[in-house]
Amino acid sequence: MSEQIAIYAYVLAAVLFVFALKAMASPKTARRGNLIGAVGMLIAIGVTLLAQRPEMIRDIVHGNWIPTGLTVPAITSTGWVFVIIGIVAGSLIGAFLALTVKMTGMPQMVAMFNGFGGLASGLVVFAVVFRRSAADMATEAGQTLAVTVGVSTLIGWVTFTGSVIAFAKLQGVVFSGKPVTFPLQKIANFLVLLACVGAIVVWGFAPEMRWIIIPLALLASAFGVMFVIPIGGADMPVVISLLNSYSGLAACATGFVLNNPGLIIAGSLVGASGIVLTRLMCHAMNRSLANVLFAAVGSKVADIDTERQKSVKRYTGQDGAMILANADSVIFVPGYGLAVAQAQHILKELADLLESRGTTVKYGIHPVAGRMPGHMNVLLAEADVPYEQLCDLETINPEFENTDAVVTIGANDVINPAARSDRDSPIYGMPILDVDKARTVMIIKRSLSPGFAGIDNDLFYNAKTLMLFGDGKAMLTDLVAAMKEA
Ligand code: NDP
Repeated sequence: MSEQIAIYAYVLAAVLFVFALKAMASPKTARRGNLIGAVGMLIAIGVTLLAQRPEMIRDIVHGNWIPTGLTVPAITSTGWVFVIIGIVAGSLIGAFLALTVKMTGMPQMVAMFNGFGGLASGLVVFAVVFRRSAADMATEAGQTLAVTVGVSTLIGWVTFTGSVIAFAKLQGVVFSGKPVTFPLQKIANFLVLLACVGAIVVWGFAPEMRWIIIPLALLASAFGVMFVIPIGGADMPVVISLLNSYSGLAACATGFVLNNPGLIIAGSLVGASGIVLTRLMCHAMNRSLANVLFAAVGSKVADIDTERQKSVKRYTGQDGAMILANADSVIFVPGYGLAVAQAQHILKELADLLESRGTTVKYGIHPVAGRMPGHMNVLLAEADVPYEQLCDLETINPEFENTDAVVTIGANDVINPAARSDRDSPIYGMPILDVDKARTVMIIKRSLSPGFAGIDNDLFYNAKTLMLFGDGKAMLTDLVAAMKEA
């Protein structure tokens, strides 16, 4: 393939990535965006494989800054076998996961995808370094390579191990929702990070010491674990977005190592959009990034008030249906439990039923509801809920006081008034959905158990709150049946 065509193809892929991101900004066009992005990626991968001589592209894009001795060789026939095995195995695993992973497993899958991005970057640059002799590295170009590889290794391995911990937290395998702290944690974290940066600097001055990449990868892996374990449950959305951004930055750094324009562009787009998402998540929680990353370190975890003997109003589906049948306006507030119960379709059926009786129906979507950014939008889109009915926090909050009934399904932290009133609460300051301002609040969940942040919720004991205990899907099915009879 001529280098000219390769460059045009990379530009086309880059344009498709930008359009994909634009389309993914709205639930209406997100599916199309996903497809456009996938086509862009297919083009980028195809070009990279067919171009086979990346040094040509490098020369055009950056000028010939690395002597030919350090160029990446063309793929050999054995190399092609590995490439084909990789493509087939990756496609099969991807298709299998896409078909089998349940909606409730999506957040964990996203966390692992971030991690694999980091791991791939870490491994690729490892191979790049060890394909060169120490003598090859001991040049000015080798110096530049050592620093770029160092940066890629640092970000890649931090992303990988950080994502593994995020996955484990989301899966509830370890530290579910609880920050893990120990004495002098901030100092320990700082020293490990400093050691990583120090290793990159030393390597830059002595590029022939290729072995530095091994302790660097180990230190970066340790830092990835240490940076995620102190983050509390409520702050995990920020960490997940940040890791998403890191996976892009790692790919971008690897793109510089390989001088692959496609990887540089795709990596920077993921890195930049991840940062934007991180900012949005911080905004959603009314916290600064520094506060999220460092506040839990050394802080006390809020205890659940298990001794509390307050009473709740326990209602059945029949009781709930009577209230809904008389309501002129209803707002549904979905939370993580809706995903667990897979109750989105029956929720839509209930909403349709209410609308057919003349009730105004809306959905209040908190930006951190569920276990991944946009979780509730994806879930409700699956059930064909009209996008116009999905209202974000700022839009819906002023409407609660004029609403007859709010029905929350598997939501907890995002409706917890402690965020407004309890200065000691880990979620203090996070904007919540002000459901307690509605005339009646119906809460559908199985028990009084806390949400991911692990904190008690006073809303359950509020005078206007009716608790409908049960699985989200089963309770909504009861409500629909009772409404049909009403
Ligand atoms: P929460 O995690 O606060 O609460 C979910 C509730 O759902 C639980 O209290 C549980 O109560 C209930 N539930 C579970 N299964 C069912 C079921 N089958 N039927 C009915 N209810 C069920 O969810 P929210 O959406 O309110 O808040 C999200 C939390 O997760 C926030 O703390 C957020 O910071 C965090 N987070 C968000 C991420 C994101 O990107 N959006 C990522 C990581 C964490 P019970 O057991 O009694 O039924």
